[in-house]
Amino acid sequence: MKQAPLDQNPMEPAPPHLEVRDLRVHFDGIHALHGVSFQVPQGQIVTLIGANGAGKTSILRAISGLTPYTGSITFEGRDLRRVPPHRIVGLGIAHVPEGRGIFGNLTVRENLRLATWQRHDPEGIETDFERVLSTFPRLRERLRQPGGTLSGGEQQMLAVGRALMSRARLLLLDEPSMGMSPRLVQELFAIIQDINRTHTTILLVEQNANQALRIASHAYVLETGRITLAGTGQELLGDPRVKEAYLGTGATGKGANDAKLQ
Ligand code: ATP
Repeated sequence: MKQAPLDQNPMEPAPPHLEVRDLRVHFDGIHALHGVSFQVPQGQIVTLIGANGAGKTSILRAISGLTPYTGSITFEGRDLRRVPPHRIVGLGIAHVPEGRGIFGNLTVRENLRLATWQRHDPEGIETDFERVLSTFPRLRERLRQPGGTLSGGEQQMLAVGRALMSRARLLLLDEPSMGMSPRLVQELFAIIQDINRTHTTILLVEQNANQALRIASHAYVLETGRITLAGTGQELLGDPRVKEAYLGTGATGKGANDAKLQ
């Protein structure tokens, strides 16, 4: 059983690793988020699912300091408002953006090395480099190849590898399975669970709701900028509204990703 730190009252629950409260984001009159609140407990996998345009990416970008917002975002008890994005990385948050965010002209090796720019522990960097290459053997075979010449799935592995190299305590993954073959998707979700077992907290945004809900301890459904359902991953997997709208196993078998829950 986990021991509470000495300065913590054992009667009080541990504070969440990440807490988002009343988050609002708008772009030129478009309200992308209308007051979203949720928590990510330490060491867990939490997933946000929702249709295209629901606001999932906006949440991750706000956490990383890339989008202006109102409301509050707290990481390890620290308010992230006005913390610039590079400092947020330094605090231990790694963001694997949709579209991967790798450097196409740099080799795989350079992409991985560059992700450690905030670190000053050469031995730890070497250990993590080996860990990434044994997690993704395909990257080892392609170390000298420019990132931009990798296949889509390999670029996704490189993006996750970069996040691992940064030794993040909180990993924000935006649609990591996008563009991957079904076999690679299976591999990727197993790797996400492995990463989580090394005490990395994960906030996962996914269109692949079925896989995401299977590995998540907590899950939230986002619809047009609002959370409309919350529960454990298992609860939402069994929820008829989620089945109908996101899993393609509802009464109509429609499974439209754009369906509304009401
Ligand atoms: P997807 O799954 O399609 O990536 P999403 O759930 O991640 O969607 P967001 O990318 O967060 O959704 O977008 C939420 C809303 O905000 C959408 O209506 C989108 O068009 C709008 N939006 C996002 N970024 C901008 C921007 N830079 N300028 C204007 N509108 C934006």
